[in-house]
Amino acid sequence: LALANAGVEKLHPYQPGKPVEELERELGISNSIKLASNENPLGLGAKARAAIERALPELARYPDANGFALKSALAEKLAVNTDQLILGNGSNELIDLVYHTFVSAGQQVVYSQYTFIVYALATQGHGAEAVVVPAKDLGHDLDAMAAAITERTKLVCITNPNNPTGTFLTKAQLSAFLANVPSQVLVILDEAYTEYVAEDERHPSIDWLAQYPNLIVSRTFSKAYGLAGLRVGYMVAHPELISVLNRVREPFNCNSLALAAAEAALGDTEYLNEAVGLNQREMARYEAFFESQGISYVKSRANFITLDLKRDATPVYDALLREGVIVRPIAGYGLPTCLRISIGLEQENQRCIEALAKVLSQGV
Ligand code: PMP
Repeated sequence: LALANAGVEKLHPYQPGKPVEELERELGISNSIKLASNENPLGLGAKARAAIERALPELARYPDANGFALKSALAEKLAVNTDQLILGNGSNELIDLVYHTFVSAGQQVVYSQYTFIVYALATQGHGAEAVVVPAKDLGHDLDAMAAAITERTKLVCITNPNNPTGTFLTKAQLSAFLANVPSQVLVILDEAYTEYVAEDERHPSIDWLAQYPNLIVSRTFSKAYGLAGLRVGYMVAHPELISVLNRVREPFNCNSLALAAAEAALGDTEYLNEAVGLNQREMARYEAFFESQGISYVKSRANFITLDLKRDATPVYDALLREGVIVRPIAGYGLPTCLRISIGLEQENQRCIEALAKVLSQGV
């Protein structure tokens, strides 16, 4: 087959966590818990569920191709205009759309070592050149990233909080960085986990849009809003940029249930607060456990925590699986000694901690 570019030929598919059923069948276990994909452990919120039920009779019709209701609700919440918003089938689709629309083969994309793997895949898939900047303390080294920008750079991708390490860049660091980026270089600021960050610490990315027409803020309903299975994300940027993306976007990329549920979830402050509160409390549980055991971990602002065993983590991952606890090995991200644990419900985290303590005490 003649492929679009050499990058496609060498592309390896994104490796998501395996579904629980598949793993259980493989291992001959049952009652396992999955703390592997940074999903919301609370499950679907009541308001989103009711909205889905209300939308069911309309499923024979196409969805609203422009997502009018959801965009209006988002515009109001974020104090932006609807022409600054684009909706996607998960933010993942929108990230790919940015590449598809703006990044040509041979151009450079700058991103950090140990960041969301989709940037590496999209860069390769579009035949662009990856400029991977070595991480600093497992997070982004913004000075080095700014220094890595050349005349061939088209896009810089930043994830804050970062996945898979949970590291966090402050407002001051980010705004200083943005001021250093030439205006012809686009910046995706991926805020998939931003709702978990305390409001006073969160960077005011939406305010920065007025100053930086090259900035693209990316968010999702998959994490704190609990809609990962429905696939809804959005980007906020300058209207001209959004208008180009909308021309390239597939018209019915967000389905009716997703649109209805996301709009309801956006208004479900109670659910959001519960999710964020649970995450905070349970994060503290993991931190206390790691500290008591002398296990090193990365301080995280997201809905997961990454521990570093300082040796190949595979045996511990396998042993945890046999205990019915599914976490995420992140060797594929270049961190073979680390495991990423998504914060679950109280009893799930307790079970994970007990399993980890058992496995480590057995000298695995
Ligand atoms: N960005 C980051 C940093 C993520 O961790 C994820 C989910 N793993 C996404 C984007 C994509 O999320 P979704 O496509 O579900 O919106």
